Amino acid sequence: ASGYSLLRDPHHNKGLAFNEKERDSHYLCGLLPPTVVSQEIQVKKMMHNIRNYQVPLQRYMAMMDLQERNQRLFYKLLMDNVEELLPIVYTPTVGEACQKYGSIFNRPQGLFISLKEKGKILEVLRNWPEKNIQVIVVTDGERILGLGDLGCQGMGIPVGKLSLYTALGGVRPSACLPITIDVGTNNEELLNDEFYIGLRQKRANGQEYAELLHEFMTAVKQNYGEKILVQFEDFANHNAFNLLEKYGTTHLVFNDDIQGTASVVLAGLISAMKFAGGSLADHTFLFLGAGEAGTGIAELIALEISKQTNIPVEETRKKVWLVDSKGLIVSSRAESLQHFKRPWAHEHEPVTELVDAVNKIKPTVLIGTSGQGKTFTKEVVEAMSALNEKPIILALSNPTSQSECTAEEAYTWSQGRAIFASGSPFESVEYEGKVHVPGQANNAYIFPGFGLGLIMSGTIRVHDDMLLVAAEALAAQVSQENFDKGLIYPPFKNIRKISAHIAAKVAAKSYELGLATRLPPPKDLVKYAESCMYSPSYRTYR
Ligand code: NAP
Ligand code: MN
Repeated sequence: ASGYSLLRDPHHNKGLAFNEKERDSHYLCGLLPPTVVSQEIQVKKMMHNIRNYQVPLQRYMAMMDLQERNQRLFYKLLMDNVEELLPIVYTPTVGEACQKYGSIFNRPQGLFISLKEKGKILEVLRNWPEKNIQVIVVTDGERILGLGDLGCQGMGIPVGKLSLYTALGGVRPSACLPITIDVGTNNEELLNDEFYIGLRQKRANGQEYAELLHEFMTAVKQNYGEKILVQFEDFANHNAFNLLEKYGTTHLVFNDDIQGTASVVLAGLISAMKFAGGSLADHTFLFLGAGEAGTGIAELIALEISKQTNIPVEETRKKVWLVDSKGLIVSSRAESLQHFKRPWAHEHEPVTELVDAVNKIKPTVLIGTSGQGKTFTKEVVEAMSALNEKPIILALSNPTSQSECTAEEAYTWSQGRAIFASGSPFESVEYEGKVHVPGQANNAYIFPGFGLGLIMSGTIRVHDDMLLVAAEALAAQVSQENFDKGLIYPPFKNIRKISAHIAAKVAAKSYELGLATRLPPPKDLVKYAESCMYSPSYRTYR
């Protein structure tokens, strides 16, 4: 190959980091200025450039540009500056990128499978240049973050999630495949946007939708085998639960919005017990929002309590209550409820207002997963604080504008007593001389390590017990020093170590359940997980 094409190949390009010998042997002389620099200097320079952009979307574009130019440098940058760059390549900025994806799109970063490809999805998969795929993240773009239906422009999400699989979980970039399934969009604005890149039609649903998805799932297994991990991402809840149930018994599938969220929130609750006292079984949980996140978390809490106490899950579910857009979910509503809400329809009189539900149910834990901002009002937080010495309040709705309350509101209205975490990041808050550091229940704590654990053990099915051990493993990574600062999640800078521990626990559970095919099991699973992880350091070329 010519030196010129080497510089244009993002998998091999090192830019100014090609040394003298490499420049000689690979026909690069004259194509680069004389200076040879280290990867560390390149990282320093890129960070300097990125910080010079004031607009987050420009930082995002600079990162995407780097990913297309020099993949190893992209991952090195992301790993070395994870706390600063996560909000750029992932939520919240990735959301804005999806909204404007039509305008900023320049090179495909994943596969687009639309209704037009019906009948030939297998061929489409074979067009992707990499053959040894281990994980697919797929969206149909219908519920992108809290932003709604972005159709084909949802592609930013699988791309972003997979770059975290690599940066945080160490899965090789060439083994990751982002896919967007385009069945149309109901977003009028996009349908009328001249730069829109997707099919210009209303969403297909019913049988037409089911058939395309089924062809896709069948083709994926045929092309990549039983051990391919398919992560469903940002599907609307009327499809998400069905897909997970339908393919959970035949494929290795994982839904991050339901299962990943559940695991990361359960981890936060487990470590919150350090402050609130008692065990999960001593608590009562109330949710605002009963969709993918709400019912997913609710179920995992009930499973964990059941495991800790040996009480059947049908009973432990009674400690968990949910409110949806029509009020408290109670048994008199059972008939008209979507099936995923039915396990939560307990005996109680109807209640419409959240604050009334708080006063009647008397929860110790209040969790917001409705996507509606400012719903944990002063009245609600004060009611929680009147009931509890240490009220646990999780405002999980994203992005920041949709948060149920801010960190400052939670600490102020509870007179500094709340144990608070949120979906979107908040700055620390000083209240009456004490600094409170809010936690962020970021799914990125769980899914990269979880996926690595599945992949490295050759697991063929996901089991709920794996979500429980992942949550426990994450909670176990919160150190005494972290607790002393009031944290319920560990700092992100140790994420690779955290991911290795999560991966090890998930793999161990998989071996225990007989779902792992990589035999014999490695002796030290943490060491093995670490040894499997991709390193972005440059290779030397001969
Ligand atoms: P979803 O499946 O659409 O569920 C939304 C739920 O909220 C539904 O049950 C809906 O009620 C309910 N709701 C809507 N408006 C309401 C109102 N005014 N009062 C009470 N309930 C209301 O969405 P999702 O996937 O669960 O996501 C929900 C939110 O959680 C999003 O903002 C998302 O960003 C956030 N989230 C955060 C994390 C995290 O922090 N790690 C992870 C995942 C999701 P009906 O069922 O009656 O329509
Ligand atoms: Mn998601």
